[in-house]
Amino acid sequence: MTLTAENAAARATPESTAGTATVRPPLDPQALRADFPIFERLIHGKRLAYLDSASTSLKPRRVLDAMDGYNRRYTANVHRGIYTTGEEATAAYEESRVKIARFINAPDPHEIVQVRNATEAINLVAYSWGRRNIGRADTIVLTELEHHANLVPWQLLVQEKDADLEFVPIHDDGRLNLQTYEVLLRTRPKLVAFTHVSNGLGTINPVREMVEMAHAAGALVLVDGAQAVPHLPVDVRAIDADFYVFSGHKVLGPTGSGALWARRELLDAMPPFLAGGEMIREVHLRRTTFNDVPWKFEAGTPDIAAAIGLGAALDYLADLGMDRLREHERELVGYALEVLPREVPGITIYGPASADDRGGVVTFNLPGVHPHDVATLLDRDAIAVRAGHHCTQPLHERLGEAATARASFNVYSDRDDIDRLAKGLRSVQRVFDRPTSESHAATTQASANDLD
Ligand code: PLP
Repeated sequence: MTLTAENAAARATPESTAGTATVRPPLDPQALRADFPIFERLIHGKRLAYLDSASTSLKPRRVLDAMDGYNRRYTANVHRGIYTTGEEATAAYEESRVKIARFINAPDPHEIVQVRNATEAINLVAYSWGRRNIGRADTIVLTELEHHANLVPWQLLVQEKDADLEFVPIHDDGRLNLQTYEVLLRTRPKLVAFTHVSNGLGTINPVREMVEMAHAAGALVLVDGAQAVPHLPVDVRAIDADFYVFSGHKVLGPTGSGALWARRELLDAMPPFLAGGEMIREVHLRRTTFNDVPWKFEAGTPDIAAAIGLGAALDYLADLGMDRLREHERELVGYALEVLPREVPGITIYGPASADDRGGVVTFNLPGVHPHDVATLLDRDAIAVRAGHHCTQPLHERLGEAATARASFNVYSDRDDIDRLAKGLRSVQRVFDRPTSESHAATTQASANDLD
């Protein structure tokens, strides 16, 4: 085996193990880029500055190899074949479930339902738990920060059941207004559903406190961890929610993978969502009994290669250490919050002012330039940012913007990416010949967007 940055990082011995604390050096994004084959390619002759990890992350070789191994060496369906490759495929698929459980500290792998993405996981809860438990005039509390995936399924449910939705508003800096949350909880909602980390603004919500408040009001809680699991250590036992969901493709894993964690007693009581093969125990012409959880919720042939790839991605991240990844991104966000306003006069940055309150996301606008133009011009310099509403149209209505541009990070992102972004944005401004007066320079951070 050659010593790539990947396996070197995986094997890195602690710098110091004095006492009980283990101190490891910060992540080395430049070295880690060697683990991601996409960086072998040049875009317009330049190294890719990939600043769209909140949309989907890049995939390390370890993930690609794990998927390739399944496809080349032991392709077979799962839970069916009583032959060598069939048993290997089943073992690898089930091993991924165990890895997911371990990664988020779930008490029992049987509480992990393997799904295609966070959207499917939320729909599963809305259709299965929701249709059985939400009735006329019941309330579900969401927030203004939600991705459409944690909004539209609930809209469909309340329309069908003649129930109500309420929304926790945000302060101007993108943090949730917890006083209003407390007031909304007095309506005794049946369910509260909110994102752990906002994909639009990066806000890290106080999940533990919010779950406690919701439980005290008698509500169940679903936490959308799509932007948290890839960037922070997540412990579902400590968070103490009832449902927690995430997508594999944002966690350095493949598309078509993801997970729903839910308390065992809830899953046991919930009716099936999709029906067909795999989710059954006995089928007769007019009657069926169902499999145990979690397989009751895994109808049909799953995306086996993707599930195995997700397991490999979680191994990769666990070896690097999620606390180190969080620290790396906190440092990068802090750097971006300092450099962009200084180097790009007039830029508006949305969301919390402190990197401590943000995941690896920096959302911004250049006055007078549409974010699509920003993204298109940056692409000429091989800088990839997202432009649009980021599947958070209600949040953008609240910000008073139809669209924004967003830079987001992961293990392979570094200060050089941010320096290139700053330089690229200056070039965009030159193209559009924007004035860059001192007064514009002072207009930074979310306070610029005084909306209340
Ligand atoms: N929730 C949040 C906070 C997200 O950022 C996303 C994707 O961007 C989703 C849910 C939906 O993820 P997916 O499209 O993988 O289902």
